[in-house]
Amino acid sequence: MQLAGEKPSHIIAPAIHKSRDDVADLFVQHHKTPRKTDIGELTMEARKFLREHFLSGEMGISGGNFLIAETGSLMLVTNEGNGRMTTTLPRVHVAITGIEKVLPTLEDASCILRLLTRSATGQSISNYVTLNTGPKRPGDLDGPEEMHVIIVDAGRTGLLGTDMQEALRCIRCGACMNHCPVYQNIGGHAYGWVYPGPIGSVLTPNYIGLENAIDLPNAATLCNQCGVVCPVKIPLPDLMRKLREKQVDRGLRPWQERLGLKLWAWVAKRPGIYALVTRIAARVGRSVGGADRMIHRLPGNGWTEGRDLPAPAGKTFRELYAERKRS
Ligand code: SF4
Repeated sequence: MQLAGEKPSHIIAPAIHKSRDDVADLFVQHHKTPRKTDIGELTMEARKFLREHFLSGEMGISGGNFLIAETGSLMLVTNEGNGRMTTTLPRVHVAITGIEKVLPTLEDASCILRLLTRSATGQSISNYVTLNTGPKRPGDLDGPEEMHVIIVDAGRTGLLGTDMQEALRCIRCGACMNHCPVYQNIGGHAYGWVYPGPIGSVLTPNYIGLENAIDLPNAATLCNQCGVVCPVKIPLPDLMRKLREKQVDRGLRPWQERLGLKLWAWVAKRPGIYALVTRIAARVGRSVGGADRMIHRLPGNGWTEGRDLPAPAGKTFRELYAERKRS
């Protein structure tokens, strides 16, 4: 990602949007080596070039999957081993991680570790799990001379005790984005900040301000695939819906949308009027669809700028259901 000048598009597979050919082209451009597309060979090339950096670096900066209060340890979970290079080879190790990553005991960490690796990559354990508990001691063969842990708050404690508190349970496994139909279609960069996918749609507005991430809580079908797969049971669709409500309450949505929602609520609470309005809408929609039964343009709606909308059947679901029952 650094060679490409890009940011990660996934929290555990940062280069998931790159093909092996993309990586081959990047390596030719930056390493000036013959082009290769075999994944093993590409990995060996990455290792060769990275190792020089690890061996000459004065300071290694890592994240931290968990902090364990009982022992003062930092837990790192990786599959590549670069985490160990970063934390043991340079003279100084700096770990930066969020304040919500603190776990009480090692036993808690072992439980959460099982959840993390299973949900993240389907592994029962990742290739490397490292516990760093301070710098090198006298007699130790390796390790940094200094170790510093930076605990980031940046809005996290502000969520405690609010209706968004459940989002702090996130263990960054990535399962919610892997299962999200929106993420699968638009990719992680479209979410515009650190965290993509459903958890990004919840965390980003909370950390950078609802007005600065106006589209994110709406970038969801609320299908609840994310809520089902989340190993720590964060009710992601509920949290997104609450953020939508806050947007409306604070007047952040366009007035046409707010008026539309008010009208919708008024109609939806009156079954007779609802039946009449939907009967009319179904018939109008059917006739607008024409012979090919597709609506090509909806005035004032960007949705149909890039795609067609299938026209309704001409009758409402309730009418069709009643007809089927009679027959
Ligand atoms: S919200 Fe749940 S599924 Fe998504 S990254 Fe966090 S822990 Fe994993």
